[in-house]
Amino acid sequence: MSRKLLSVVVPCYNEENVLMQFYDDCINALDGLSEELDHEFIFVDDGSTDGTLDIMRELSAMDTTVKYISFSRNFGKEAGIYAGLTEAKGDFVVLLDADLQHPPKYIKNMYQYVADGEYDSVAMKRTDRRGEGRIRSFFSKKFYRLMQKLSNTDIPQGATDFRIMTRQFVDSVLSMSEYNRFTKGIFGWVGFRTMWMSYPNTERAGGESKWSFMSLVRYSLDGIVAFSTKPLILSAVLGTIICLISFIMIVFTVVKTIIWGDPVAGYPTLITVILLMSGLQLLFLGIIGQYFAKAYMEVKKRPVYIAKEKHV
Ligand code: UDP
Ligand code: MG
Repeated sequence: MSRKLLSVVVPCYNEENVLMQFYDDCINALDGLSEELDHEFIFVDDGSTDGTLDIMRELSAMDTTVKYISFSRNFGKEAGIYAGLTEAKGDFVVLLDADLQHPPKYIKNMYQYVADGEYDSVAMKRTDRRGEGRIRSFFSKKFYRLMQKLSNTDIPQGATDFRIMTRQFVDSVLSMSEYNRFTKGIFGWVGFRTMWMSYPNTERAGGESKWSFMSLVRYSLDGIVAFSTKPLILSAVLGTIICLISFIMIVFTVVKTIIWGDPVAGYPTLITVILLMSGLQLLFLGIIGQYFAKAYMEVKKRPVYIAKEKHV
């Protein structure tokens, strides 16, 4: 039996503090698999402004299995994942963060399940959210619940991007060439048999998280727009309900005036209804606008990333 190749794909943005340690940990973890597997590293430098790229160059100079690709600017983690998966040549691909929040020691265990063909992908989810703010945890839980309801893709609570995949799975992910990439949704959308493994949350080994609360909110909204059109249906449903109510009110008002001859009073009610209605209209105009904006970006067919330097 010929030896299989495992590609280790790592999106990195300003990770100079942890990259070396990450590499060492990975080498240690892969050591346990070296009897059955060869490996290659695909580091993606997502426009880092620190010494991340220098470390990649250094690593690839001393280890021929280290490949890297460097972007012309920061394109975001999703673009980094896409670039890494595109360059990966392995029969299996494992995707993990550079900050050691996705501990490489689990790779061996994950690999066992895809190696015997039982699963096409093994993904990790966090069992707890230790070391994460309360508010952040709360909204993140709500987001996953909402996402489950809105889209038909399977994204469990605490799902991470830490995942090992077969070649077939990777090719399917790459066949989705959309510009607005919500990888968590894409992984679920392509189907196949995925096993979810749990692990306790690990804090960053160094450096800082690139996500602010607002950027997470934006990420969530992008995810919803990318994987569900239900918000659009909501406006139609609400519109219908409001039409029905107003129809009943018209009949009621006419009948009331005919029987009691009471002229319609109520300036406050009028203002409230006008404000409510114009608010709702603007809200749904905004929602439609979101979908339109995404479609606009998609139609432009811009590249997901631009590489400035490549060593693959
Ligand atoms: N990352 C990236 N581009 C970005 C932001 C992040 O490639 O614009 C990488 C980052 O280097 C890390 C991974 O994505 O390897 C996860 O980022 P981070 O640890 O900041 O996110 P968190 O773990 O806080 O969700
Ligand atoms: Mg992290």
